[in-house]
Amino acid sequence: MNMSRSKRIEEIAVALTEQLSVAETTGELDALKKMHEIFSDMTYYKNNPEDLRTIEVPGDKWGRKSLMALMRGKKSDNKKTVVMIGHIDTVGISDYGSLKDYANKPYELTEKFKEIDLPEEVKKDLESGEYLFGRGLFDMKTGDAIIMSIMEEISQDIENFSGNLIFCAVCDEEANSAGMLSCVPELVKIQENEGLEFTALLDTDYMTSEYEGDENKYVYIGTVGKIMPSFYIVGKETHVGESFKGIDPNQISASIINRINLNVEYCDTVEGEVSLPPITLKSKDLKPEYSCQIAKTACLYFNYATQSSTPDEVMVKMKKAAKDSFQYTVDSLNNQYEAYCKMASRDYKKLPWEARSFSYEELYSMVKLEMGQELETKLNEYINELIEKEEFDTRDKTMKIVEFVHSLWSDRNPAVIVYFTPPYYPHVYVEGKTEKEINLLNAVADAVEKTKTDYKVVYKKFFPYISDLSYGSAPKDPVIISGIKNNMPGFGKTYDLPLEDMQKLDLPVLDIGSFGKDAHKFTERIEKKYSFEVAPELVERTIMNLLK
Ligand SMILES: [Zn+2]
Repeated sequence: MNMSRSKRIEEIAVALTEQLSVAETTGELDALKKMHEIFSDMTYYKNNPEDLRTIEVPGDKWGRKSLMALMRGKKSDNKKTVVMIGHIDTVGISDYGSLKDYANKPYELTEKFKEIDLPEEVKKDLESGEYLFGRGLFDMKTGDAIIMSIMEEISQDIENFSGNLIFCAVCDEEANSAGMLSCVPELVKIQENEGLEFTALLDTDYMTSEYEGDENKYVYIGTVGKIMPSFYIVGKETHVGESFKGIDPNQISASIINRINLNVEYCDTVEGEVSLPPITLKSKDLKPEYSCQIAKTACLYFNYATQSSTPDEVMVKMKKAAKDSFQYTVDSLNNQYEAYCKMASRDYKKLPWEARSFSYEELYSMVKLEMGQELETKLNEYINELIEKEEFDTRDKTMKIVEFVHSLWSDRNPAVIVYFTPPYYPHVYVEGKTEKEINLLNAVADAVEKTKTDYKVVYKKFFPYISDLSYGSAPKDPVIISGIKNNMPGFGKTYDLPLEDMQKLDLPVLDIGSFGKDAHKFTERIEKKYSFEVAPELVERTIMNLLK
């Protein structure tokens, strides 16, 4: 193991952690500045300052930027290039409570922890001396430091380096990926203008145990994706005194939740790896006030992880789930109503509800049939007003657009409109079919094999955490793309993705991270030996293999 490198990684990781860089604060710029300083000191950037650039996030409230460091080997005209990413932002620090002031001071924080009561496992790790604590140290400044120290070393001997590296240190990963999304078009430009041949997109974000007692250390090739199927539910309002005369959108909503939530029918299984089933992220009715009238509309959306399902496939499944759940609600209402009529000695007449579900795209076409071109004009006006409204976030805005289009429809009967709420993160499956994919799989297999260590290093498919890796490519099939665009109301206006540029990048992706525990918790910590010694060797070997 390269001990001077280990020390250097620790030094950089701690220096970056000391620059508190909570997402959506100007702290992100402080971390970027520190990083810029370190790069500027490297021999390569002293000689080639134009290869170190900042990429602005257009129109950003905090003026945030990402850093793009290109390093061209001088040994040969090898156009092969490994693209690497790492994020510079972290989650907030309120979870540290009274230790908040130490959250970004790894050595002091680790000392302070010795004075307080901690969960058993944390205490054990603390006492072992093998762990270092700090906000962002694990997620993911150690990962950034690994890439930076490798580049620093290469920089000293650039004459003997064949191939090229690009490192994008991106902001806003923990929030809206604005950093990565602004870097994607720049990467496409560099690739085209300089005739570079991008081989893979490598992230060094964190890695942890997958289950209790899991001793494996993972390298992931490919990544899970995420989509958010959403339901705008139109019931029929009624006074609570005549409750059987209406249909409660909350009841339909509950039925949809029961049908979809954690239902393993919606897991994707690929090469024996299983994605997590969907779970709700929001469920509410849209009645603003208290009154004795039941709600007219409700909405809910799910987090839906993907490894193979495409947006159009998810839409088909969700539309069916909505219709089935709606039918289930109608059936149980009829049963209750019949029993009620018997109890109250009244005549029972079947309730009039018809279970219906439509995609947003279908709703749009039906309204367009009634209104023609006027729909687009009105909708554009509405969206332009909506964009200005700060009280709604991107997700609310998407729902408001569905609500608006539905309000223009002459059909007032109960229905469920299925659509997608942003963000969308495509999964990347590295199947081993293309030359690029085969090269990546071989590069990693060789790196894992040659890295001698007592840790059990295992490589598998699908980095399990949602990350910027998803933006390294996009589905090519126009059906999949239109399935997203036409069912994500406001796409291109209230929310956007550089889908065409992502398609142009078309990179197989991987993650080789530092190892630690409790990301996004105040007990966030790295295990030093693996993170400073083993992970860097795996990263370096993989890079070198990819550039061969
Ligand atoms: Zn991360």
